[in-house]
Amino acid sequence: MTALAGVIAARIRATGPMSLADYMATCLMDPRHGYYATRDPFGAGGDFTTAPEISQMFGELTGLCLAQAWLDQGAPAPFTLAETGPGRGTLMADFLRATRAVPGFHAAMRLHLVESSPALRETQAATLGRDDVTWCDRVEALPEAPLFLVANEFFDALPIRQFQRGQTGWHERVVGLSGDRLALGLGPEGPLPALDHRLAETRPGDIVETCAPGAAIAGDIGARIAAHGGAALIVDYGDWRSLGDTFQAVAGHAPTDPFAAPGMADLTAHVDFEALARAAAPAAHTRLTPQGLFLERLGIAARAEALARGLTGTARESHLAAYRRLTDAGEMGTLFKVLGLFPPGASPPPGLEP
Ligand code: SAH
Repeated sequence: MTALAGVIAARIRATGPMSLADYMATCLMDPRHGYYATRDPFGAGGDFTTAPEISQMFGELTGLCLAQAWLDQGAPAPFTLAETGPGRGTLMADFLRATRAVPGFHAAMRLHLVESSPALRETQAATLGRDDVTWCDRVEALPEAPLFLVANEFFDALPIRQFQRGQTGWHERVVGLSGDRLALGLGPEGPLPALDHRLAETRPGDIVETCAPGAAIAGDIGARIAAHGGAALIVDYGDWRSLGDTFQAVAGHAPTDPFAAPGMADLTAHVDFEALARAAAPAAHTRLTPQGLFLERLGIAARAEALARGLTGTARESHLAAYRRLTDAGEMGTLFKVLGLFPPGASPPPGLEP
Protein backbone atom coordinates (compact mmCIF):
# COMPACT_ATOMS: atom_id res chain seq x y z
CA MET A 1 0.00 0.00 0.00
CA THR A 2 1.34 3.45 -0.87
CA ALA A 3 1.38 6.24 1.71
CA LEU A 4 -1.36 7.98 -0.24
CA ALA A 5 -3.55 4.83 -0.27
CA GLY A 6 -3.53 4.94 3.54
CA VAL A 7 -4.49 8.63 3.58
CA ILE A 8 -7.33 8.06 1.10
CA ALA A 9 -8.65 4.96 2.92
CA ALA A 10 -8.69 6.87 6.23
CA ARG A 11 -10.62 9.70 4.58
CA ILE A 12 -13.20 7.30 3.12
CA ARG A 13 -13.66 5.61 6.50
CA ALA A 14 -14.20 8.99 8.13
CA THR A 15 -16.43 10.73 5.58
CA GLY A 16 -17.66 8.12 3.08
CA PRO A 17 -16.94 7.40 -0.59
CA MET A 18 -15.35 10.19 -2.68
CA SER A 19 -16.01 11.29 -6.22
CA LEU A 20 -13.59 10.21 -8.93
CA ALA A 21 -12.66 13.90 -9.27
CA ASP A 22 -11.57 14.06 -5.60
CA TYR A 23 -9.64 10.84 -6.04
CA MET A 24 -7.91 12.04 -9.21
CA ALA A 25 -7.03 15.46 -7.77
CA THR A 26 -5.60 13.85 -4.62
CA CYS A 27 -3.55 11.28 -6.54
CA LEU A 28 -2.11 13.85 -8.95
CA MET A 29 -1.67 16.96 -6.85
CA ASP A 30 -1.47 16.01 -3.15
CA PRO A 31 1.38 18.28 -1.98
CA ARG A 32 3.28 15.45 -0.21
CA HIS A 33 2.51 12.26 -2.14
CA GLY A 34 0.87 13.44 -5.38
CA TYR A 35 2.09 12.19 -8.74
CA TYR A 36 3.01 15.55 -10.31
CA ALA A 37 4.08 17.05 -7.01
CA THR A 38 6.80 14.46 -6.48
CA ARG A 39 8.40 13.61 -9.82
CA ASP A 40 9.24 14.45 -13.41
CA PRO A 41 7.15 11.84 -15.25
CA PHE A 42 8.21 12.63 -18.82
CA GLY A 43 10.49 10.95 -21.30
CA ALA A 44 12.02 7.52 -21.80
CA GLY A 45 12.95 7.06 -18.13
CA GLY A 46 9.57 8.34 -16.91
CA ASP A 47 6.01 7.13 -17.30
CA PHE A 48 4.96 8.68 -20.59
CA THR A 49 6.19 10.78 -23.50
CA THR A 50 4.45 13.79 -24.99
CA ALA A 51 4.65 15.41 -28.44
CA PRO A 52 7.13 18.16 -27.48
CA GLU A 53 9.39 15.54 -25.87
CA ILE A 54 9.26 13.48 -29.08
CA SER A 55 10.37 16.22 -31.47
CA GLN A 56 11.32 19.91 -31.45
CA MET A 57 9.06 20.32 -34.51
CA PHE A 58 5.92 20.23 -32.35
CA GLY A 59 6.81 23.34 -30.35
CA GLU A 60 8.26 25.10 -33.39
CA LEU A 61 5.10 24.69 -35.47
CA THR A 62 2.65 25.57 -32.69
CA GLY A 63 4.81 28.65 -32.07
CA LEU A 64 4.74 29.73 -35.71
CA CYS A 65 0.99 29.06 -35.82
CA LEU A 66 0.27 31.36 -32.86
CA ALA A 67 2.75 34.00 -34.08
CA GLN A 68 0.92 34.08 -37.43
CA ALA A 69 -2.43 34.39 -35.61
CA TRP A 70 -0.89 37.33 -33.70
CA LEU A 71 0.22 38.98 -36.99
CA ASP A 72 -3.24 38.31 -38.52
CA GLN A 73 -4.83 40.19 -35.61
CA GLY A 74 -2.64 43.25 -36.17
CA ALA A 75 0.25 42.38 -33.85
CA PRO A 76 -1.33 43.68 -30.60
CA ALA A 77 1.20 44.88 -27.99
CA PRO A 78 1.59 44.01 -25.23
CA PHE A 79 0.05 40.54 -25.31
CA THR A 80 0.13 37.51 -23.02
CA LEU A 81 1.84 34.37 -24.25
CA ALA A 82 0.67 31.57 -21.98
CA GLU A 83 1.07 27.84 -21.68
CA THR A 84 -1.04 25.75 -19.32
CA GLY A 85 0.67 22.66 -17.88
CA PRO A 86 4.10 23.21 -19.52
CA GLY A 87 5.64 19.96 -18.22
CA ARG A 88 9.41 20.21 -18.63
CA GLY A 89 9.19 23.51 -20.56
CA THR A 90 10.32 21.82 -23.77
CA LEU A 91 7.43 23.01 -25.92
CA MET A 92 7.91 26.62 -24.83
CA ALA A 93 11.67 26.50 -25.43
CA ASP A 94 11.09 25.32 -29.02
CA PHE A 95 8.22 27.80 -29.45
CA LEU A 96 10.42 30.75 -28.38
CA ARG A 97 13.39 29.73 -30.54
CA ALA A 98 11.17 29.35 -33.63
CA THR A 99 9.43 32.71 -33.14
CA ARG A 100 12.58 34.77 -32.47
CA ALA A 101 12.61 35.93 -36.09
CA VAL A 102 8.99 37.16 -36.09
CA PRO A 103 9.40 40.97 -35.97
CA GLY A 104 8.09 42.50 -32.73
CA PHE A 105 6.72 39.22 -31.32
CA HIS A 106 9.16 38.76 -28.46
CA ALA A 107 9.27 42.46 -27.64
CA ALA A 108 5.47 42.57 -27.22
CA MET A 109 5.08 39.25 -25.39
CA ARG A 110 4.59 38.82 -21.64
CA LEU A 111 5.37 35.18 -20.89
CA HIS A 112 3.15 33.36 -18.37
CA LEU A 113 3.25 29.69 -17.40
CA VAL A 114 0.26 28.20 -15.58
CA GLU A 115 1.66 25.34 -13.51
CA SER A 116 0.54 23.91 -10.18
CA SER A 117 3.51 21.63 -9.47
CA PRO A 118 6.43 23.34 -7.68
CA ALA A 119 8.80 20.58 -8.86
CA LEU A 120 7.88 21.12 -12.51
CA ARG A 121 8.12 24.92 -12.14
CA GLU A 122 11.77 24.43 -11.22
CA THR A 123 12.35 22.20 -14.23
CA GLN A 124 10.67 24.77 -16.50
CA ALA A 125 12.82 27.58 -15.11
CA ALA A 126 15.96 25.54 -15.80
CA THR A 127 14.86 24.60 -19.33
CA LEU A 128 13.99 28.16 -20.31
CA GLY A 129 16.80 29.99 -18.49
CA ARG A 130 15.02 33.36 -18.77
CA ASP A 131 14.28 36.06 -16.24
CA ASP A 132 11.01 37.26 -17.79
CA VAL A 133 8.73 34.33 -16.90
CA THR A 134 5.72 34.75 -14.60
CA TRP A 135 4.31 31.56 -13.08
CA CYS A 136 0.72 31.38 -11.95
CA ASP A 137 -1.51 28.76 -10.35
CA ARG A 138 -4.60 29.51 -12.35
CA VAL A 139 -5.70 30.90 -15.71
CA GLU A 140 -7.80 33.49 -13.79
CA ALA A 141 -4.53 35.13 -12.70
CA LEU A 142 -3.46 35.95 -16.28
CA PRO A 143 -3.48 39.67 -17.22
CA GLU A 144 -6.50 41.19 -18.95
CA ALA A 145 -4.79 41.48 -22.36
CA PRO A 146 -4.79 39.75 -25.76
CA LEU A 147 -4.10 36.09 -24.97
CA PHE A 148 -2.19 33.62 -27.14
CA LEU A 149 -2.21 30.27 -25.38
CA VAL A 150 -1.14 26.68 -25.95
CA ALA A 151 -2.25 23.66 -23.92
CA ASN A 152 -0.77 20.28 -24.81
CA GLU A 153 -1.92 17.27 -22.77
CA PHE A 154 -3.19 19.62 -20.06
CA PHE A 155 -6.96 19.12 -20.09
CA ASP A 156 -6.63 15.29 -19.86
CA ALA A 157 -5.00 15.72 -16.45
CA LEU A 158 -7.95 17.63 -14.93
CA PRO A 159 -10.25 15.73 -12.54
CA ILE A 160 -13.37 14.16 -14.03
CA ARG A 161 -16.54 12.75 -12.52
CA GLN A 162 -18.28 9.73 -13.96
CA PHE A 163 -22.00 9.08 -14.06
CA GLN A 164 -23.76 5.86 -14.97
CA ARG A 165 -27.12 6.25 -16.63
CA GLY A 166 -30.05 4.83 -14.63
CA GLN A 167 -33.66 4.56 -15.80
CA THR A 168 -34.45 8.29 -15.61
CA GLY A 169 -31.41 9.83 -13.89
CA TRP A 170 -27.77 9.18 -13.10
CA HIS A 171 -25.70 7.29 -10.50
CA GLU A 172 -22.31 8.83 -9.69
CA ARG A 173 -19.42 6.34 -9.76
CA VAL A 174 -17.59 6.83 -6.47
CA VAL A 175 -14.42 5.50 -4.84
CA GLY A 176 -15.08 3.51 -1.68
CA LEU A 177 -13.58 0.58 0.20
CA SER A 178 -14.07 -3.14 -0.28
CA GLY A 179 -12.40 -4.52 2.82
CA ASP A 180 -9.06 -2.70 2.82
CA ARG A 181 -8.94 -2.16 -0.95
CA LEU A 182 -10.10 0.88 -2.87
CA ALA A 183 -13.02 -0.03 -5.12
CA LEU A 184 -15.52 1.71 -7.37
CA GLY A 185 -19.14 1.83 -6.31
CA LEU A 186 -22.34 3.54 -7.42
CA GLY A 187 -24.13 6.38 -5.64
CA PRO A 188 -27.94 6.59 -5.55
CA GLU A 189 -29.81 7.50 -8.73
CA GLY A 190 -30.82 11.14 -9.07
CA PRO A 191 -31.50 13.81 -11.68
CA LEU A 192 -28.54 15.82 -13.00
CA PRO A 193 -29.48 18.93 -15.03
CA ALA A 194 -25.90 19.26 -16.42
CA LEU A 195 -26.41 15.95 -18.24
CA ASP A 196 -29.98 16.51 -19.47
CA HIS A 197 -28.61 16.93 -23.00
CA ARG A 198 -27.14 13.40 -22.87
CA LEU A 199 -30.38 11.61 -21.88
CA ALA A 200 -31.70 11.24 -25.44
CA GLU A 201 -28.57 9.54 -26.79
CA THR A 202 -27.66 7.28 -23.85
CA ARG A 203 -29.16 4.07 -22.46
CA PRO A 204 -29.30 2.66 -18.93
CA GLY A 205 -25.81 1.43 -17.98
CA ASP A 206 -23.94 3.93 -20.23
CA ILE A 207 -21.17 5.97 -18.60
CA VAL A 208 -20.75 9.69 -19.22
CA GLU A 209 -17.90 11.87 -17.91
CA THR A 210 -17.87 15.53 -16.90
CA CYS A 211 -14.90 17.79 -16.20
CA ALA A 212 -15.99 20.89 -14.31
CA PRO A 213 -12.45 22.38 -13.95
CA GLY A 214 -11.84 21.93 -17.70
CA ALA A 215 -15.05 23.77 -18.57
CA ALA A 216 -14.22 26.57 -16.11
CA ILE A 217 -10.71 27.02 -17.53
CA ALA A 218 -11.92 26.92 -21.15
CA GLY A 219 -14.59 29.46 -20.17
CA ASP A 220 -11.99 31.81 -18.75
CA ILE A 221 -9.71 31.48 -21.79
CA GLY A 222 -12.64 32.00 -24.19
CA ALA A 223 -13.87 35.09 -22.34
CA ARG A 224 -10.42 36.72 -22.54
CA ILE A 225 -9.99 35.90 -26.23
CA ALA A 226 -13.45 37.24 -27.06
CA ALA A 227 -12.86 40.43 -25.04
CA HIS A 228 -9.23 41.25 -25.86
CA GLY A 229 -8.31 39.16 -28.93
CA GLY A 230 -5.90 36.26 -29.12
CA ALA A 231 -6.06 32.54 -29.91
CA ALA A 232 -5.71 29.21 -28.14
CA LEU A 233 -4.52 25.83 -29.35
CA ILE A 234 -5.83 22.94 -27.27
CA VAL A 235 -4.16 19.64 -28.17
CA ASP A 236 -5.14 16.37 -26.51
CA TYR A 237 -6.61 12.91 -26.93
CA GLY A 238 -10.35 12.66 -26.90
CA ASP A 239 -13.33 13.26 -29.12
CA TRP A 240 -15.95 15.84 -29.89
CA ARG A 241 -18.31 14.10 -27.43
CA SER A 242 -17.08 11.46 -25.01
CA LEU A 243 -19.02 8.33 -24.15
CA GLY A 244 -17.92 5.50 -21.90
CA ASP A 245 -15.24 5.05 -19.26
CA THR A 246 -11.99 6.71 -20.44
CA PHE A 247 -10.38 6.99 -16.99
CA GLN A 248 -6.91 5.47 -17.29
CA ALA A 249 -3.67 5.03 -15.37
CA VAL A 250 -0.20 4.77 -16.90
CA ALA A 251 3.08 3.93 -15.17
CA GLY A 252 6.35 2.99 -16.84
CA HIS A 253 4.77 3.49 -20.31
CA ALA A 254 2.16 0.75 -19.64
CA PRO A 255 -1.50 0.82 -18.56
CA THR A 256 -2.09 -0.07 -14.93
CA ASP A 257 -4.98 -0.32 -12.43
CA PRO A 258 -5.86 3.29 -11.40
CA PHE A 259 -6.72 2.13 -7.86
CA ALA A 260 -3.73 -0.13 -7.19
CA ALA A 261 -1.07 2.40 -6.16
CA PRO A 262 -2.47 5.93 -5.79
CA GLY A 263 0.13 8.65 -6.40
CA MET A 264 2.44 6.32 -8.34
CA ALA A 265 0.68 6.41 -11.74
CA ASP A 266 -0.42 9.17 -14.08
CA LEU A 267 -4.22 9.40 -14.15
CA THR A 268 -6.00 10.91 -17.13
CA ALA A 269 -9.27 10.87 -19.06
CA HIS A 270 -10.13 11.62 -22.66
CA VAL A 271 -11.07 15.23 -23.35
CA ASP A 272 -14.66 16.03 -24.26
CA PHE A 273 -13.90 18.81 -26.74
CA GLU A 274 -17.54 19.79 -27.25
CA ALA A 275 -17.77 20.68 -23.56
CA LEU A 276 -14.68 22.92 -23.87
CA ALA A 277 -15.96 24.59 -27.05
CA ARG A 278 -19.36 25.26 -25.44
CA ALA A 279 -17.75 26.67 -22.31
CA ALA A 280 -15.42 28.93 -24.34
CA ALA A 281 -18.28 30.85 -25.97
CA PRO A 282 -18.48 33.73 -26.86
CA ALA A 283 -15.05 32.90 -28.36
CA ALA A 284 -15.38 31.11 -31.70
CA HIS A 285 -13.98 27.61 -32.07
CA THR A 286 -12.48 25.74 -35.00
CA ARG A 287 -13.36 22.29 -36.23
CA LEU A 288 -11.77 19.54 -34.17
CA THR A 289 -8.76 18.60 -36.33
CA PRO A 290 -6.51 15.53 -36.15
CA GLN A 291 -2.98 16.44 -34.97
CA GLY A 292 -1.37 14.84 -38.04
CA LEU A 293 -3.45 16.91 -40.46
CA PHE A 294 -2.83 20.10 -38.45
CA LEU A 295 0.96 19.59 -38.48
CA GLU A 296 1.01 18.68 -42.18
CA ARG A 297 -0.93 21.86 -43.02
CA LEU A 298 1.64 23.86 -41.07
CA GLY A 299 4.45 22.35 -43.16
CA ILE A 300 5.93 19.68 -40.92
CA ALA A 301 7.03 17.62 -43.98
CA ALA A 302 9.31 20.41 -45.22
CA ARG A 303 10.63 21.09 -41.71
CA ALA A 304 11.32 17.37 -41.16
CA GLU A 305 13.23 17.23 -44.44
CA ALA A 306 15.29 20.32 -43.64
CA LEU A 307 16.27 18.89 -40.24
CA ALA A 308 17.00 15.46 -41.77
CA ARG A 309 19.55 17.03 -44.13
CA GLY A 310 21.80 17.84 -41.21
CA LEU A 311 21.62 14.34 -39.71
CA THR A 312 23.12 10.94 -40.47
CA GLY A 313 22.84 7.38 -39.14
CA THR A 314 20.74 6.67 -36.04
CA ALA A 315 20.15 10.38 -35.35
CA ARG A 316 18.51 10.67 -38.78
CA GLU A 317 16.51 7.46 -38.24
CA SER A 318 15.17 8.56 -34.88
CA HIS A 319 14.31 12.04 -36.21
CA LEU A 320 12.27 10.48 -39.04
CA ALA A 321 10.64 8.03 -36.60
CA ALA A 322 9.65 11.00 -34.40
CA TYR A 323 8.09 12.74 -37.41
CA ARG A 324 6.02 9.62 -38.16
CA ARG A 325 5.06 9.23 -34.52
CA LEU A 326 3.61 12.75 -34.39
CA THR A 327 1.71 12.51 -37.67
CA ASP A 328 0.89 8.89 -38.65
CA ALA A 329 -2.69 7.72 -38.25
CA GLY A 330 -1.64 4.59 -36.34
CA GLU A 331 0.40 6.67 -33.89
CA MET A 332 -0.46 10.13 -32.50
CA GLY A 333 -1.72 11.57 -35.79
CA THR A 334 -5.41 10.81 -35.33
CA LEU A 335 -5.69 9.91 -31.63
CA PHE A 336 -4.61 13.46 -30.74
CA LYS A 337 -6.77 16.34 -31.89
CA VAL A 338 -6.51 20.12 -32.02
CA LEU A 339 -9.24 22.61 -31.10
CA GLY A 340 -8.57 26.28 -31.82
CA LEU A 341 -10.27 29.20 -30.07
CA PHE A 342 -10.30 32.65 -31.66
CA PRO A 343 -12.25 35.94 -31.48
CA PRO A 344 -15.62 35.98 -33.26
CA GLY A 345 -15.14 37.68 -36.65
CA ALA A 346 -11.36 36.98 -36.81
CA SER A 347 -9.78 34.28 -38.95
CA PRO A 348 -8.93 30.97 -37.24
CA PRO A 349 -5.28 30.12 -36.45
CA PRO A 350 -3.41 28.66 -39.47
CA GLY A 351 -3.90 24.92 -40.00
CA LEU A 352 -7.44 24.99 -38.60
CA GLU A 353 -10.86 25.65 -40.14
CA PRO A 354 -13.85 27.45 -38.66
N1 SAH B 1 2.34 20.05 -21.76
C1 SAH B 1 3.40 19.19 -21.26
C2 SAH B 1 3.03 18.42 -19.99
C3 SAH B 1 1.73 17.65 -19.95
S1 SAH B 1 1.45 16.85 -18.40
C4 SAH B 1 3.86 18.26 -22.37
O1 SAH B 1 3.19 18.20 -23.39
O2 SAH B 1 4.90 17.61 -22.21
C5 SAH B 1 0.33 17.93 -17.55
C6 SAH B 1 0.91 19.21 -17.01
O3 SAH B 1 -0.15 19.96 -16.42
C7 SAH B 1 1.96 19.06 -15.92
O4 SAH B 1 2.90 20.11 -16.10
C8 SAH B 1 1.13 19.24 -14.65
O5 SAH B 1 1.88 19.60 -13.53
C9 SAH B 1 0.19 20.34 -15.08
N2 SAH B 1 -1.09 20.44 -14.37
C10 SAH B 1 -1.96 19.44 -14.11
N3 SAH B 1 -3.07 19.93 -13.51
C11 SAH B 1 -2.90 21.26 -13.39
C12 SAH B 1 -3.70 22.33 -12.87
N4 SAH B 1 -4.89 22.11 -12.34
N5 SAH B 1 -3.21 23.58 -12.94
C13 SAH B 1 -2.01 23.82 -13.49
N6 SAH B 1 -1.21 22.86 -14.00
C14 SAH B 1 -1.64 21.59 -13.94
